[in-house]
Amino acid sequence: MVNNNFRISLLRCKGTSQIREKLNSELDRYSDLFPLSKEAKILLKPNLNSYMNALTGNTTDLRILAALIEYLKGKGYHNLIIGEGTSSGFYREKINIFSRLYIDKLATFYGVKTIDLNYAPSEEIEFEYGVKARVAKICREADFFINLPKLKTHFEAGMSVCLKNMLGALVGLPNKQKAHRSLFKNILNLNKHVRPHLHIVDGLIAMEGNGPSSGTPLNLGVILIGTDPYLVDLACARIAGFDYRDIPYLKIALDAGIINESYLKYSESFVPEPVIRKLRKPNVNWLVRFINKPGWQHYFVKIRLAPGFNRLFSTKLAGKLLNISGLRQDVFIKEDAGDNRISLIEQECDNCMKCADYCPMALSLPQQLKERDDRCIGCLYCFLVCPQKAIKVEGKLGYLSEQIKRYDKFRGSL
Ligand code: SF4
Ligand code: SF4
Repeated sequence: MVNNNFRISLLRCKGTSQIREKLNSELDRYSDLFPLSKEAKILLKPNLNSYMNALTGNTTDLRILAALIEYLKGKGYHNLIIGEGTSSGFYREKINIFSRLYIDKLATFYGVKTIDLNYAPSEEIEFEYGVKARVAKICREADFFINLPKLKTHFEAGMSVCLKNMLGALVGLPNKQKAHRSLFKNILNLNKHVRPHLHIVDGLIAMEGNGPSSGTPLNLGVILIGTDPYLVDLACARIAGFDYRDIPYLKIALDAGIINESYLKYSESFVPEPVIRKLRKPNVNWLVRFINKPGWQHYFVKIRLAPGFNRLFSTKLAGKLLNISGLRQDVFIKEDAGDNRISLIEQECDNCMKCADYCPMALSLPQQLKERDDRCIGCLYCFLVCPQKAIKVEGKLGYLSEQIKRYDKFRGSL
């Protein structure tokens, strides 16, 4: 049976002020779960899977993160930590995701600490085939743990939400690679060990198609809050129009008795038909399907990690071939961006207020674009969504150039 204490909420939001308003009032309904002591250590774990920002559908929206931090600070909690262990390739390439997604600037502004879980003190957990992996201790030791996943499609796992987001709790590249020896079962193994108290799903701009990094953004405008990651993931599958049986780790969870029929019934009754918006599924080729077959992954990953092969697969040429074959999605651009300046081209602006809807810091836009405001963290959300291209960005764009070019065509649809 679904736990009687279980809670789940679905918010439909548009724009920063509505996100803040609805999140605040809904979180008040969960306030009895929060620690009594205001000294409590609260860990926030967004999905910072790559340096593609939230508007691409890839990573957690800074609007939710900022709203949550303000809520918690408003309740007197001051020991807040943002923690994430970004995915393997970025870790290997030593690319700082916290800085590229402006998490560091956001954290500095609010006086919140950050921790890269890839380098955090760790403890051992058991994976399939008797493999031992290490997970960041803080995920179990924090007094309160809030999981902040993105709702997106995933070319291996079908979908990535609450359960899959826990992969970021694994410490460093070798431990993440161990998870891939039996990805779906190890997602469940990980979630038996690491159990956030609350899940807040960012479904504002979701990703459909070949997620998590090669899909396309979709303006879904939802936030889900809940206490059971299985039920929240099932509800997300309903919202996305996916059959849970196509999400291997949910199917395995049901077969293994971790969840039961009552979970399915509850998720069906919780998500009413009109809310469902069918997301395009990942369209993977035969090679990706072949290599990710449950039971076979273990052997492929073993070969992949054998000393000679491991060096070979880390070369640029192998990276390109993996991208072309669909086995790897991320592109690792080494060039950082500079301290970019944004400004308003007043004659181009028609006061549509879209920039204000997307500003995580709730600045009074477009007015506050006329002079540099200290609260601006430089995230460029306003620049990316402006339909008139009335916001100018100057400086060294580095890795952002490719992202801006790639997502320019979605500007009008966000
Ligand atoms: S989004 Fe662009 S056009 Fe609209 S108010 Fe902002 S700056 Fe002006
Ligand atoms: S003004 Fe623009 S760049 Fe600055 S915080 Fe707001 S959305 Fe980000």
